[in-house]
Amino acid sequence: MTIIYLLSQWRTANIKHLTAFLVCKMSNTLNLFENMKFENSLAFAQSLDAQDELRKFRSFFHIPKAQSGKDVIYFTGNSLGLQPVTAKEAVLQELEDWAKLGGEGHFEGKNPWFSYHKLLTEPTAKLVGAKSIEVVVMNTLTVNLHLLMVSFYRPTAQRNKILMEGGAFPSDQYAVESQVRFHGLAPETTIVEIFPREGETYLRTEDITQKIKEIGNELALVLFGGVNYYTGQAFDIQSITQKAHEIGALAGFDLAHAAGNIPLRLHDWEVDFATWCTYKYLNSGAGGTSGVFIHEKYADNQDIPRFAGWWGHDENERFLMKKGFKPMRGAEGWQLSNAQILPMAVHKASLELFEAAGMDKLWAKHLKMNQFFYFLIDEFNQSQTKIQVEVITPKDENQSGCQLSLVIKGVGKKLYNFLMENGVSTGWREPEVVRIAPVPLYNTFEEIYSFVELLGKF
Ligand SMILES: *Cc1c(COP(=O)(O)O)cnc(C)c1O
Repeated sequence: MTIIYLLSQWRTANIKHLTAFLVCKMSNTLNLFENMKFENSLAFAQSLDAQDELRKFRSFFHIPKAQSGKDVIYFTGNSLGLQPVTAKEAVLQELEDWAKLGGEGHFEGKNPWFSYHKLLTEPTAKLVGAKSIEVVVMNTLTVNLHLLMVSFYRPTAQRNKILMEGGAFPSDQYAVESQVRFHGLAPETTIVEIFPREGETYLRTEDITQKIKEIGNELALVLFGGVNYYTGQAFDIQSITQKAHEIGALAGFDLAHAAGNIPLRLHDWEVDFATWCTYKYLNSGAGGTSGVFIHEKYADNQDIPRFAGWWGHDENERFLMKKGFKPMRGAEGWQLSNAQILPMAVHKASLELFEAAGMDKLWAKHLKMNQFFYFLIDEFNQSQTKIQVEVITPKDENQSGCQLSLVIKGVGKKLYNFLMENGVSTGWREPEVVRIAPVPLYNTFEEIYSFVELLGKF
């Protein structure tokens, strides 16, 4: 009986997995919306919203108001995601337990703090395509990047180089440079940066894998973003990881702009480690907590050097306060401190929305939003000659997520200010990029239409 039950569970799980995989593959290989006929009108945009099965999710977020009193068109969810309406309640719950129970809240609270981080494990694992043993939520992004490099950047005289995408987010550059110096090496000769070809705006995967091959047995680590914060390019994590492994290096990823944005399958892609913040697409509040992935193959390896703390110690013996660090299995063994309950409460509320919406449905809506945007921008560029919008993000849906990086020659920052004054929140990045990120959880087709319409009034 039990066996039959288990088998049926296993089958359901696998069929679900397979379906998700097929949907993902289909949308990867053929363009589901290629034949979709778009129209350049407000009524059409509104009809797309009316058909959108995720449209109710917008009401689960606080949308900032413009001076006009209307909702801001918030296209900066890639920078700081909006507040889930349920976040306040989730934080209040923990404040109340603290008020009522004091320290007893660790075990007696509604969500006992001793194991609070575990409430985040399953939804996190789903989000990044991991097993639960492979993920933990802790600390903040740059801190985790350091902790992970302590364990997975182990340079030797022969093999010590790190390959990064050129123009990586500054915090990553500083973290990597300081790690290299920490090992007594020189950043100038140890860190290799790869840039797009002359005249091109983003990296070609074949150039990345070629570079990995070229550095060969001198390469210790490939440390790449999942999605570049400037161009919006989504990298081919699987191919990069595979190539790194082929030549004996490890592959780690900063998924700040990828988690909650693009479909991820970190376990299957055999990524060694990854980390991400939760305040961008994951809507968990400024300075919020961070997620970590460490592949299952390291789960039982107690010899990996790490910077340890009591929360990484075997939980059954954690309060015996004994000498001798004994790590938890898997990613939890990298924890340092007791869980940051308040930011985690916000993160929990946000992850529940991702659970309810489903990453596959969010991705499908994203693809449709992107198609609509490209359709409108093409029409816009053809309709006048005053300003021309160039999108430097790859158009290929395998190489991009929600963020679209726009270059509008000659008017960049002025246009950004104009949009701001007219209730559209976009991101300006020197020297010439306006970043917009229509996100499927709370943005609408109408907002995309209004944005392009507004460009015509500049
Ligand atoms: C947002 C972002 C950071 C920020 O790091 P924090 O430690 O959370 O302040 C770092 N790296 C990348 C790639 C980012 O996009």
